[in-house]
Amino acid sequence: MKGKVYLVGAGPGDPELLTVKALRLLRTAEAVLHDDLVAPGILQLIPPTAQVHNVGKRCGKKKILQGDINFLMVALASTGLRVVRLKGGDPLIFGRAGEELESLRAAGIPYEIVPGVTSALGAAAAAQIPLTHRRASSAVVFITAHQAAESEAADWCKFVSSGATLVIYMPGKNYSDVMRKLTQAGLEAETPCALVSRATTRHQRTHKATIGALPRAPQLAAPTLLIVGEVVRFADPLAMAENFVVPSIPAGRNSAVPATLFNTFTSQVTNFGRDEEPIA
Ligand code: SAH
Repeated sequence: MKGKVYLVGAGPGDPELLTVKALRLLRTAEAVLHDDLVAPGILQLIPPTAQVHNVGKRCGKKKILQGDINFLMVALASTGLRVVRLKGGDPLIFGRAGEELESLRAAGIPYEIVPGVTSALGAAAAAQIPLTHRRASSAVVFITAHQAAESEAADWCKFVSSGATLVIYMPGKNYSDVMRKLTQAGLEAETPCALVSRATTRHQRTHKATIGALPRAPQLAAPTLLIVGEVVRFADPLAMAENFVVPSIPAGRNSAVPATLFNTFTSQVTNFGRDEEPIA
């Protein structure tokens, strides 16, 4: 009998941002394939009886290919296991879920997708930036700077001219390069922007700047997101202060995540998001 694969979003880091469904599936999983960006506190929720594979592209010395991940997922489900494919944020945003779904369909494996809080939303909430605002922007665009070739800079023009707030995933460490792409696409150097690092974890940092000042911005620890647009002016100044630390939410009796797991999470989070390659 064939098993089933659940493509589950793990959210941006804080275990309390998991959906109730994600939590239930994790607790009953027989096999879990997860990416590097999934926070340790969430991995703690997997029962010890489940086999767990880190298929993050940077987890070891040897690179794991997308084809290997697809193969493993199909092979595990073919033996009848209940497999959770756990991805950071939402599985359908910059997560190469499309390729995984294709291979599941081709192998005739039943699957289900469980959405998660994408990191753009986690970052905006934590830095208190309204992504839309009646007086600033009525649209939001999620884009990635990763491997954006020169030709892609031209594509950014249409996003800039739409006036939408831009949320740039994988902005990389070369902030001068990002500045160049944004100004070439037509943004004024004075346009406000905010870098948000390790959103929704106790290591979260934010830095407010303008596009023109980006090259002088401090290098924040990965993973980071860049929010660009007039909406950044409406951010809470306290939340935007450099080195602002998110107060940790005490895990109370009613918390979905037991207090012990919360403590483990907050003490083990140091390795979270070592670099900025795409997760799959
Ligand atoms: N599927 C994920 C995105 C994967 S691409 C999602 O929906 O969020 C990986 C990129 O996501 C990182 O390079 C970074 O830009 C962003 N990211 C993921 N988690 C983040 C976090 N906690 N804080 C800031 N950026 C994050």
